Amino acid sequence: IGLRPATQPTMAWRNRFAALGPAFYTPLAPIALRDPYWVARSEAMASALGLQDEWWHSHEALAVFAGNHVPEGSRPLASVYSGHQFGVWAGQLGDGRAILLGEMETPGGPSLEVQLKGSGLTPYSRMGDGRAVLRSSIREFLCSEAMQALGIPTTHALCITGSDQPVRREEVETAAVVTRVAPSFIRFGHFEHFSHHDQPDALKTLADFVIDQFYASCRSAANPYAALLEAVTRRTAALIAQWQAVGFMHGVMNTDNMSILGLTIDYGPFQFMDGFDPNHTCNHSDHSGRYAYKRQPQIAHWNLFALGQALLPLIGEPDDAMAALEPYKTVFPGELDRRMAAKLGMAHASGATRAITQELLTLLARERTDWTIFWRRLAQHAAGASADTVRELFHERAAIDRILLQYRELLALDGQAPDADLMLKSNPAFVLRNYLAEQAIALAKQKDFRMVHELLAVLEHPFDDHPAHVGWAGFPPDWASHIQISCSS
Ligand code: AMP
Ligand code: MG
Ligand code: MG
Repeated sequence: IGLRPATQPTMAWRNRFAALGPAFYTPLAPIALRDPYWVARSEAMASALGLQDEWWHSHEALAVFAGNHVPEGSRPLASVYSGHQFGVWAGQLGDGRAILLGEMETPGGPSLEVQLKGSGLTPYSRMGDGRAVLRSSIREFLCSEAMQALGIPTTHALCITGSDQPVRREEVETAAVVTRVAPSFIRFGHFEHFSHHDQPDALKTLADFVIDQFYASCRSAANPYAALLEAVTRRTAALIAQWQAVGFMHGVMNTDNMSILGLTIDYGPFQFMDGFDPNHTCNHSDHSGRYAYKRQPQIAHWNLFALGQALLPLIGEPDDAMAALEPYKTVFPGELDRRMAAKLGMAHASGATRAITQELLTLLARERTDWTIFWRRLAQHAAGASADTVRELFHERAAIDRILLQYRELLALDGQAPDADLMLKSNPAFVLRNYLAEQAIALAKQKDFRMVHELLAVLEHPFDDHPAHVGWAGFPPDWASHIQISCSS
């Protein structure tokens, strides 16, 4: 830390969530992190929040984001929510290790909530210690910003502060705090909480808050709460289509990990698909494969159903709730078709793009072809590279040749040609593969944070070729398939 004085004008805080009233949270300051140091920061997020370069060098900045100093105007709190975990009602959960500092006014846009994750025990910590380890904080930080750059709705990560303070998991690790940023951290589980605990007034307060802040157009609907459920349904369907298209697996799609804004939230045992396997389950603790890649769409629908049940006291008629969920069945497949068509270079889905996608997915699954590399090479082929770069990914050359021929012919029948630019913008060269995160984490444990910073810089522009880091766009090493990521974080 430099000795320069803080030049940041006082951060301007609003506390609209806190204003909802005591039923929704426990007022609580974060618990100090021992001798904190900086691990990483997203410049993009820092400037979105209007936090100036100079200020980051101040003692105050480090103290705020380590949870050692509550900035003036913030009313820190831990919120209460419940939820279904692995399909079973889990009762009360809540922010067990997260503290909401409040909303920060931003220079250019709406105010954003700022939350410290890993900032110590709260009344909702249950069996946990309230801490997050450096390992999982790096994974969350990098993936939040990677998803954002992929154009996928997500909570953001502003920075990580670390400490030598030991934290016990499967082994002893060290503590860190990751600062998350989002318009709101309200989850399906917040609604389930007040519904399950028979607090209709609080349920209504929460729903009205979400409608007024984020879904204003629902207010004028005949049934604003059914309209809210439908709007959340549509956003969630579109989100999951994006996950599927990029090969992202969340790993813990419990209802308490579902954002009411349709954001990707709670980065735990997530994984980007390496070799394509629709049954792949990235969470080592998920023995039944509930959250396998291919199940994500139906799980999201199930979670929306749970949200619908929670909103029922406000919606009134079960039929109205069911009707609000109905669009999932068209929005999800429609969005997925559109995303897959874009990966094939087509602005719109058609019978041809659907047929080719189906053929390709069957072959990719049979051969466990690397998801990211296949699509990127197909894009590069459309942009002029030899078809051999695609063909050589397969044992069954005749099969891929036949599909590539079909691809050209069917599209020609439709009078179209693949748009190489669209493909290069729809098929990233770089995703946060588990092994890359593991390498960055191993170095970070030695206090070498350079790979974290370099990965961030690459993942912020995942559709560009980064000549200095081509290796990161290549095949994962053999040991990558043995990485086991559990809920432990
Ligand atoms: P997750 O599986 O990450 O969604 O977490 C489920 C619940 O456990 C949430 O209420 C978390 O706040 C809580 N939790 C997870 N890890 C910890 C921890 N180390 N200390 C306290 N609470 C935790
Ligand atoms: Mg969670
Ligand atoms: Mg978690």
